[in-house]
Amino acid sequence: MTAGRTPTHQDVYGVAADGRFAAPGRVNLIGEHTDYNEGFVMPFALPHTTVATVSRRADRRLRLHSGDMTGGVVETDLGTLAPGSVTGWAAYPAAVAWALQSEGHELGGADIHFTSDVPVGAGLSSSAALEVVTALAFSDLNGLGLDADALARLSQRAENDFVGMPCGILDQMASAACASGHVLFLDTRDLSRRQVPFDMAAAGLRLLVVDTRVKHAHADGAYARRRAECEAGAAALGVPFLRDVPFDGLDAALARITDDAVRRRVRHIVTEDRRVERVIEHLDAGRHRAIGPLLTEGHASLRDDFEVSCPELDLVVAAANAAGALGARMTGGGFGGSAIVLVEADAAQAVETAVREAFAAAGHTAPRVFGAIPSAGARRLPL
Ligand code: ADP
Ligand code: MG
Repeated sequence: MTAGRTPTHQDVYGVAADGRFAAPGRVNLIGEHTDYNEGFVMPFALPHTTVATVSRRADRRLRLHSGDMTGGVVETDLGTLAPGSVTGWAAYPAAVAWALQSEGHELGGADIHFTSDVPVGAGLSSSAALEVVTALAFSDLNGLGLDADALARLSQRAENDFVGMPCGILDQMASAACASGHVLFLDTRDLSRRQVPFDMAAAGLRLLVVDTRVKHAHADGAYARRRAECEAGAAALGVPFLRDVPFDGLDAALARITDDAVRRRVRHIVTEDRRVERVIEHLDAGRHRAIGPLLTEGHASLRDDFEVSCPELDLVVAAANAAGALGARMTGGGFGGSAIVLVEADAAQAVETAVREAFAAAGHTAPRVFGAIPSAGARRLPL
Protein backbone atom coordinates (compact mmCIF):
# COMPACT_ATOMS: atom_id res chain seq x y z
CA MET A 1 0.00 0.00 0.00
CA THR A 2 1.23 3.50 -0.79
CA ALA A 3 1.23 5.86 2.15
CA GLY A 4 -0.82 9.02 1.87
CA ARG A 5 -3.54 7.84 -0.50
CA THR A 6 -6.63 5.71 -0.18
CA PRO A 7 -5.84 2.07 -1.00
CA THR A 8 -7.24 0.66 -4.23
CA HIS A 9 -8.67 -2.79 -4.89
CA GLN A 10 -5.30 -3.73 -6.38
CA ASP A 11 -3.52 -2.52 -3.21
CA VAL A 12 -5.82 -4.50 -0.92
CA TYR A 13 -6.09 -7.78 -2.83
CA GLY A 14 -3.15 -7.77 -5.25
CA VAL A 15 -5.31 -8.71 -8.24
CA ALA A 16 -6.93 -6.73 -11.06
CA ALA A 17 -10.63 -5.90 -10.84
CA ASP A 18 -13.32 -7.51 -13.01
CA GLY A 19 -15.97 -4.83 -12.46
CA ARG A 20 -16.80 -1.50 -10.81
CA PHE A 21 -20.23 -0.45 -9.70
CA ALA A 22 -21.82 2.55 -7.96
CA ALA A 23 -25.01 3.04 -5.95
CA PRO A 24 -26.09 6.38 -4.50
CA GLY A 25 -27.35 7.66 -1.19
CA ARG A 26 -30.70 9.43 -1.25
CA VAL A 27 -32.82 12.23 0.09
CA ASN A 28 -36.52 11.66 0.59
CA LEU A 29 -38.41 14.75 -0.56
CA ILE A 30 -41.57 13.68 1.25
CA GLY A 31 -43.39 10.50 2.35
CA GLU A 32 -41.66 9.56 5.60
CA HIS A 33 -42.28 6.29 7.47
CA THR A 34 -44.96 5.52 4.87
CA ASP A 35 -43.02 2.73 3.14
CA TYR A 36 -43.70 0.03 5.73
CA ASN A 37 -47.36 1.08 5.61
CA GLU A 38 -47.48 0.35 1.84
CA GLY A 39 -47.83 4.07 1.15
CA PHE A 40 -46.18 6.65 -1.11
CA VAL A 41 -42.60 7.96 -1.05
CA MET A 42 -40.70 10.51 -3.17
CA PRO A 43 -36.93 10.10 -2.99
CA PHE A 44 -34.21 11.32 -5.29
CA ALA A 45 -30.64 10.03 -5.50
CA LEU A 46 -27.70 12.12 -4.34
CA PRO A 47 -24.52 12.49 -6.39
CA HIS A 48 -22.78 10.77 -3.46
CA THR A 49 -22.19 7.08 -4.13
CA THR A 50 -20.71 3.94 -2.68
CA VAL A 51 -18.45 2.30 -5.23
CA ALA A 52 -17.67 -1.44 -5.22
CA THR A 53 -14.62 -2.67 -7.11
CA VAL A 54 -14.81 -6.42 -7.49
CA SER A 55 -12.78 -9.38 -8.69
CA ARG A 56 -14.05 -12.93 -9.08
CA ARG A 57 -12.50 -15.78 -7.12
CA ALA A 58 -12.17 -19.40 -8.18
CA ASP A 59 -13.35 -20.59 -4.74
CA ARG A 60 -16.37 -19.61 -2.61
CA ARG A 61 -14.60 -17.18 -0.27
CA LEU A 62 -16.01 -13.70 0.13
CA ARG A 63 -13.55 -11.00 1.13
CA LEU A 64 -14.78 -7.53 2.01
CA HIS A 65 -12.84 -4.32 2.57
CA SER A 66 -14.04 -0.75 3.08
CA GLY A 67 -11.79 2.27 2.66
CA ASP A 68 -14.11 4.00 5.15
CA MET A 69 -13.70 1.52 8.01
CA THR A 70 -10.73 0.47 10.09
CA GLY A 71 -10.11 -3.18 10.82
CA GLY A 72 -8.89 -4.47 7.48
CA VAL A 73 -10.31 -7.25 5.32
CA VAL A 74 -13.29 -9.26 6.59
CA GLU A 75 -13.27 -12.80 5.22
CA THR A 76 -16.12 -15.28 5.15
CA ASP A 77 -17.38 -18.18 3.07
CA LEU A 78 -20.46 -18.13 0.85
CA GLY A 79 -21.29 -21.66 2.00
CA THR A 80 -21.60 -20.79 5.69
CA LEU A 81 -23.39 -17.42 5.59
CA ALA A 82 -26.26 -17.17 8.08
CA PRO A 83 -27.73 -14.29 10.10
CA GLY A 84 -25.26 -13.56 12.92
CA SER A 85 -22.28 -15.12 11.12
CA VAL A 86 -20.92 -11.71 10.09
CA THR A 87 -21.27 -8.62 12.28
CA GLY A 88 -20.26 -4.97 12.02
CA TRP A 89 -20.25 -3.09 8.71
CA ALA A 90 -19.46 -6.24 6.67
CA ALA A 91 -22.83 -7.69 7.72
CA TYR A 92 -24.50 -5.46 5.08
CA PRO A 93 -22.70 -6.85 1.99
CA ALA A 94 -22.58 -10.37 3.49
CA ALA A 95 -26.35 -10.10 4.02
CA VAL A 96 -26.85 -9.37 0.34
CA ALA A 97 -24.89 -12.48 -0.69
CA TRP A 98 -26.96 -14.49 1.82
CA ALA A 99 -30.25 -13.09 0.48
CA LEU A 100 -29.26 -13.84 -3.13
CA GLN A 101 -28.33 -17.41 -2.29
CA SER A 102 -31.46 -17.98 -0.22
CA GLU A 103 -33.45 -16.99 -3.32
CA GLY A 104 -31.69 -19.72 -5.27
CA HIS A 105 -29.01 -17.73 -7.09
CA GLU A 106 -25.63 -19.42 -7.45
CA LEU A 107 -22.73 -17.14 -6.60
CA GLY A 108 -19.01 -17.45 -7.10
CA GLY A 109 -16.58 -16.09 -4.52
CA ALA A 110 -15.46 -12.46 -4.74
CA ASP A 111 -13.01 -9.91 -3.39
CA ILE A 112 -14.80 -6.56 -2.96
CA HIS A 113 -13.35 -3.18 -2.09
CA PHE A 114 -15.76 -0.37 -1.16
CA THR A 115 -15.18 3.36 -1.18
CA SER A 116 -17.86 5.92 -0.49
CA ASP A 117 -18.60 9.60 -0.18
CA VAL A 118 -22.12 9.02 1.20
CA PRO A 119 -22.14 10.40 4.75
CA VAL A 120 -22.47 7.37 7.04
CA GLY A 121 -25.29 7.28 9.60
CA ALA A 122 -26.61 10.68 8.46
CA GLY A 123 -30.04 9.51 7.34
CA LEU A 124 -28.89 9.61 3.70
CA SER A 125 -28.94 5.82 3.23
CA SER A 126 -25.31 4.81 3.22
CA SER A 127 -26.53 1.36 4.29
CA ALA A 128 -28.80 0.98 1.24
CA ALA A 129 -26.05 2.28 -1.06
CA LEU A 130 -23.77 -0.42 0.34
CA GLU A 131 -26.40 -3.14 -0.09
CA VAL A 132 -27.55 -2.15 -3.56
CA VAL A 133 -24.04 -1.77 -4.96
CA THR A 134 -23.21 -5.24 -3.62
CA ALA A 135 -26.38 -6.71 -5.13
CA LEU A 136 -25.62 -5.10 -8.50
CA ALA A 137 -22.03 -6.35 -8.43
CA PHE A 138 -23.09 -9.94 -7.69
CA SER A 139 -25.86 -9.77 -10.28
CA ASP A 140 -23.51 -8.52 -12.98
CA LEU A 141 -20.54 -10.79 -12.25
CA ASN A 142 -22.74 -13.90 -11.93
CA GLY A 143 -24.91 -13.06 -14.96
CA LEU A 144 -28.13 -12.87 -12.90
CA GLY A 145 -29.59 -9.89 -14.79
CA LEU A 146 -31.54 -8.59 -11.80
CA ASP A 147 -33.64 -5.45 -12.39
CA ALA A 148 -34.05 -2.51 -10.00
CA ASP A 149 -37.05 -4.08 -8.25
CA ALA A 150 -35.18 -7.31 -7.58
CA LEU A 151 -32.03 -5.50 -6.42
CA ALA A 152 -34.07 -3.38 -4.00
CA ARG A 153 -36.25 -6.19 -2.68
CA LEU A 154 -33.37 -8.47 -1.87
CA SER A 155 -31.34 -5.63 -0.36
CA GLN A 156 -34.26 -4.82 1.91
CA ARG A 157 -34.57 -8.48 2.84
CA ALA A 158 -30.86 -8.58 3.60
CA GLU A 159 -31.18 -5.62 5.98
CA ASN A 160 -34.37 -6.97 7.60
CA ASP A 161 -33.43 -10.60 8.08
CA PHE A 162 -29.64 -10.64 8.32
CA VAL A 163 -28.66 -7.22 9.70
CA GLY A 164 -31.83 -7.12 11.82
CA MET A 165 -33.13 -3.65 10.91
CA PRO A 166 -36.88 -3.78 10.09
CA CYS A 167 -36.70 -1.03 7.42
CA GLY A 168 -39.16 -0.51 4.56
CA ILE A 169 -38.09 -0.44 0.91
CA LEU A 170 -37.70 3.32 0.42
CA ASP A 171 -33.92 3.52 0.68
CA GLN A 172 -33.15 0.50 -1.45
CA MET A 173 -35.59 1.47 -4.22
CA ALA A 174 -34.21 5.00 -4.24
CA SER A 175 -30.66 3.74 -4.63
CA ALA A 176 -31.61 1.18 -7.28
CA ALA A 177 -34.18 3.06 -9.36
CA CYS A 178 -33.72 6.85 -9.21
CA ALA A 179 -32.91 8.79 -12.37
CA SER A 180 -30.79 11.91 -12.82
CA GLY A 181 -32.82 15.16 -12.79
CA HIS A 182 -35.90 13.42 -11.40
CA VAL A 183 -37.62 12.62 -8.16
CA LEU A 184 -39.07 9.10 -7.95
CA PHE A 185 -42.79 8.87 -7.14
CA LEU A 186 -43.03 5.34 -5.78
CA ASP A 187 -46.04 3.38 -4.59
CA THR A 188 -44.46 0.96 -2.12
CA ARG A 189 -47.51 -1.35 -2.35
CA ASP A 190 -46.59 -2.72 -5.76
CA LEU A 191 -43.40 -0.73 -6.57
CA SER A 192 -45.21 1.03 -9.44
CA ARG A 193 -43.45 4.31 -10.04
CA ARG A 194 -42.99 7.40 -12.13
CA GLN A 195 -39.91 9.56 -12.67
CA VAL A 196 -41.04 13.16 -12.09
CA PRO A 197 -38.81 15.91 -13.56
CA PHE A 198 -37.30 17.87 -10.67
CA ASP A 199 -35.00 20.58 -11.97
CA MET A 200 -34.82 22.99 -9.08
CA ALA A 201 -32.03 25.07 -10.59
CA ALA A 202 -34.17 25.83 -13.66
CA ALA A 203 -36.93 26.98 -11.29
CA GLY A 204 -34.49 29.31 -9.51
CA LEU A 205 -34.49 27.13 -6.41
CA ARG A 206 -32.05 25.12 -4.36
CA LEU A 207 -32.58 22.18 -2.07
CA LEU A 208 -30.13 22.15 0.80
CA VAL A 209 -29.29 19.07 2.83
CA VAL A 210 -28.36 19.82 6.42
CA ASP A 211 -26.66 16.91 8.16
CA THR A 212 -27.02 17.61 11.90
CA ARG A 213 -24.18 15.14 12.62
CA VAL A 214 -26.15 13.66 15.50
CA LYS A 215 -27.60 10.17 15.69
CA HIS A 216 -29.53 9.57 18.87
CA ALA A 217 -28.87 6.19 20.42
CA HIS A 218 -32.47 4.99 20.68
CA ALA A 219 -33.13 5.38 16.93
CA ASP A 220 -33.32 1.69 15.96
CA GLY A 221 -35.54 0.61 18.86
CA ALA A 222 -37.88 3.55 18.30
CA TYR A 223 -38.11 2.69 14.59
CA ALA A 224 -39.24 -0.84 15.41
CA ARG A 225 -41.78 0.53 17.93
CA ARG A 226 -43.25 2.93 15.36
CA ARG A 227 -43.63 0.06 12.98
CA ALA A 228 -45.47 -1.95 15.64
CA GLU A 229 -47.71 1.03 16.48
CA CYS A 230 -48.64 1.38 12.81
CA GLU A 231 -49.49 -2.32 12.66
CA ALA A 232 -51.61 -1.88 15.81
CA GLY A 233 -53.41 1.04 14.14
CA ALA A 234 -54.13 -0.99 11.01
CA ALA A 235 -55.39 -3.90 13.13
CA ALA A 236 -57.66 -1.60 15.16
CA LEU A 237 -59.15 -0.29 11.91
CA GLY A 238 -59.45 -3.72 10.30
CA VAL A 239 -57.28 -2.87 7.28
CA PRO A 240 -54.15 -4.68 6.04
CA PHE A 241 -52.01 -1.51 6.09
CA LEU A 242 -52.52 2.16 7.01
CA ARG A 243 -52.27 2.86 3.28
CA ASP A 244 -55.82 1.52 3.13
CA VAL A 245 -57.27 4.24 5.37
CA PRO A 246 -58.72 6.88 3.01
CA PHE A 247 -57.85 10.51 3.75
CA ASP A 248 -61.54 11.40 3.46
CA GLY A 249 -62.38 8.91 6.19
CA LEU A 250 -59.57 9.93 8.53
CA ASP A 251 -61.63 11.62 11.25
CA ALA A 252 -64.01 8.69 11.50
CA ALA A 253 -61.05 6.28 11.62
CA LEU A 254 -59.28 8.26 14.36
CA ALA A 255 -62.45 8.28 16.46
CA ARG A 256 -62.30 4.47 16.51
CA ILE A 257 -58.80 4.29 18.01
CA THR A 258 -58.57 4.44 21.79
CA ASP A 259 -54.79 4.59 22.25
CA ASP A 260 -53.63 8.20 21.93
CA ALA A 261 -50.14 7.39 20.59
CA VAL A 262 -51.50 4.94 18.01
CA ARG A 263 -54.11 7.51 16.95
CA ARG A 264 -51.41 10.10 16.27
CA ARG A 265 -49.22 7.61 14.40
CA VAL A 266 -52.19 6.82 12.15
CA ARG A 267 -52.86 10.51 11.57
CA HIS A 268 -49.25 11.05 10.48
CA ILE A 269 -49.24 8.19 7.97
CA VAL A 270 -52.60 9.05 6.40
CA THR A 271 -51.89 12.79 6.15
CA GLU A 272 -48.35 12.09 4.90
CA ASP A 273 -49.62 9.94 2.03
CA ARG A 274 -51.97 12.82 1.14
CA ARG A 275 -49.08 15.29 1.27
CA VAL A 276 -47.13 13.17 -1.21
CA GLU A 277 -50.08 13.29 -3.60
CA ARG A 278 -50.32 17.06 -3.21
CA VAL A 279 -46.58 17.51 -3.85
CA ILE A 280 -46.98 15.46 -7.04
CA GLU A 281 -49.90 17.63 -8.15
CA HIS A 282 -47.80 20.77 -7.64
CA LEU A 283 -44.72 19.39 -9.40
CA ASP A 284 -46.78 18.14 -12.34
CA ALA A 285 -48.23 21.66 -12.66
CA GLY A 286 -44.78 23.26 -12.45
CA ARG A 287 -45.54 24.89 -9.08
CA HIS A 288 -42.20 24.09 -7.40
CA ARG A 289 -42.50 26.77 -4.72
CA ALA A 290 -45.89 25.49 -3.59
CA ILE A 291 -44.34 22.33 -2.14
CA GLY A 292 -42.52 24.36 0.56
CA PRO A 293 -45.41 24.59 3.04
CA LEU A 294 -46.13 20.87 2.57
CA LEU A 295 -42.55 20.05 3.58
CA THR A 296 -42.90 22.10 6.76
CA GLU A 297 -46.33 20.61 7.48
CA GLY A 298 -44.83 17.16 7.08
CA HIS A 299 -42.11 18.04 9.56
CA ALA A 300 -44.67 19.17 12.15
CA SER A 301 -46.49 15.87 11.68
CA LEU A 302 -43.28 13.87 12.16
CA ARG A 303 -42.39 15.95 15.21
CA ASP A 304 -45.76 16.05 16.96
CA ASP A 305 -47.74 13.04 15.76
CA PHE A 306 -45.07 10.51 14.83
CA GLU A 307 -42.53 11.75 17.39
CA VAL A 308 -39.38 10.86 15.45
CA SER A 309 -37.75 14.28 15.28
CA CYS A 310 -35.21 15.70 17.74
CA PRO A 311 -34.15 19.18 18.90
CA GLU A 312 -31.41 19.51 16.27
CA LEU A 313 -33.75 18.68 13.37
CA ASP A 314 -36.45 20.97 14.77
CA LEU A 315 -33.87 23.75 15.00
CA VAL A 316 -32.86 23.37 11.32
CA VAL A 317 -36.49 23.68 10.26
CA ALA A 318 -37.29 26.62 12.56
CA ALA A 319 -34.12 28.57 11.77
CA ALA A 320 -34.36 27.97 8.02
CA ASN A 321 -38.00 29.00 7.83
CA ALA A 322 -37.40 32.07 10.02
CA ALA A 323 -34.62 33.09 7.60
CA GLY A 324 -36.94 32.91 4.60
CA ALA A 325 -36.81 29.30 3.38
CA LEU A 326 -39.85 28.11 1.40
CA GLY A 327 -40.11 25.04 3.59
CA ALA A 328 -38.06 22.43 5.45
CA ARG A 329 -38.36 18.99 7.00
CA MET A 330 -36.37 16.17 8.47
CA THR A 331 -35.62 13.41 5.94
CA GLY A 332 -35.05 9.71 6.63
CA GLY A 333 -35.94 7.83 9.78
CA GLY A 334 -35.29 10.67 12.24
CA PHE A 335 -33.77 10.94 15.76
CA GLY A 336 -30.91 12.85 14.17
CA GLY A 337 -29.54 12.60 10.67
CA SER A 338 -30.44 15.15 8.05
CA ALA A 339 -33.04 17.76 7.15
CA ILE A 340 -33.83 19.26 3.75
CA VAL A 341 -34.50 22.94 3.13
CA LEU A 342 -36.13 24.40 -0.01
CA VAL A 343 -34.91 27.92 -0.75
CA GLU A 344 -34.81 30.52 -3.49
CA ALA A 345 -31.34 30.19 -5.03
CA ASP A 346 -30.41 33.74 -4.11
CA ALA A 347 -31.43 33.18 -0.47
CA ALA A 348 -29.51 29.92 -0.02
CA GLN A 349 -26.42 31.48 1.51
CA ALA A 350 -28.37 33.59 4.02
CA VAL A 351 -30.49 30.59 5.09
CA GLU A 352 -27.41 28.39 5.48
CA THR A 353 -25.75 31.08 7.61
CA ALA A 354 -28.86 31.41 9.78
CA VAL A 355 -28.91 27.64 10.41
CA ARG A 356 -25.19 27.63 11.25
CA GLU A 357 -25.64 30.53 13.67
CA ALA A 358 -28.61 28.87 15.35
CA PHE A 359 -26.55 25.68 15.84
CA ALA A 360 -23.62 27.63 17.27
CA ALA A 361 -25.92 29.57 19.61
CA ALA A 362 -27.49 26.32 20.86
CA GLY A 363 -24.05 24.77 21.44
CA HIS A 364 -24.57 22.03 18.81
CA THR A 365 -21.79 20.61 16.63
CA ALA A 366 -21.55 22.54 13.34
CA PRO A 367 -23.80 20.92 10.72
CA ARG A 368 -22.65 19.79 7.27
CA VAL A 369 -24.62 21.64 4.55
CA PHE A 370 -24.64 20.92 0.81
CA GLY A 371 -26.88 21.54 -2.19
CA ALA A 372 -28.60 18.35 -3.40
CA ILE A 373 -28.75 17.62 -7.12
CA PRO A 374 -31.04 14.74 -8.22
CA SER A 375 -28.64 12.15 -9.62
CA ALA A 376 -28.53 8.68 -11.17
CA GLY A 377 -29.38 5.39 -9.48
CA ALA A 378 -27.19 2.27 -9.29
CA ARG A 379 -25.03 1.59 -12.33
CA ARG A 380 -21.95 -0.19 -13.69
CA LEU A 381 -18.89 2.03 -14.03
CA PRO A 382 -15.99 1.73 -16.47
CA LEU A 383 -13.02 -0.06 -14.94
P1 ADP B 1 -27.58 5.49 7.06
O1 ADP B 1 -28.10 4.44 6.14
O2 ADP B 1 -28.58 6.55 7.35
O3 ADP B 1 -26.29 6.09 6.60
P2 ADP B 1 -27.45 3.27 8.89
O4 ADP B 1 -27.25 3.22 10.35
O5 ADP B 1 -28.66 2.68 8.32
O6 ADP B 1 -27.28 4.81 8.47
O7 ADP B 1 -26.21 2.57 8.17
C1 ADP B 1 -24.89 2.93 8.49
C2 ADP B 1 -24.03 1.68 8.57
O8 ADP B 1 -23.85 1.12 7.26
C3 ADP B 1 -22.62 1.96 9.05
O9 ADP B 1 -22.56 1.96 10.46
C4 ADP B 1 -21.84 0.79 8.45
O10 ADP B 1 -22.03 -0.37 9.20
C5 ADP B 1 -22.53 0.60 7.11
N1 ADP B 1 -21.88 1.39 6.05
C6 ADP B 1 -22.39 2.41 5.35
N2 ADP B 1 -21.51 2.88 4.43
C7 ADP B 1 -20.38 2.15 4.57
C8 ADP B 1 -19.09 2.13 3.92
N3 ADP B 1 -18.78 2.99 2.95
N4 ADP B 1 -18.21 1.20 4.33
C9 ADP B 1 -18.51 0.33 5.29
N5 ADP B 1 -19.69 0.30 5.94
C10 ADP B 1 -20.62 1.18 5.60
MG1 MG C 1 -29.67 3.10 6.57
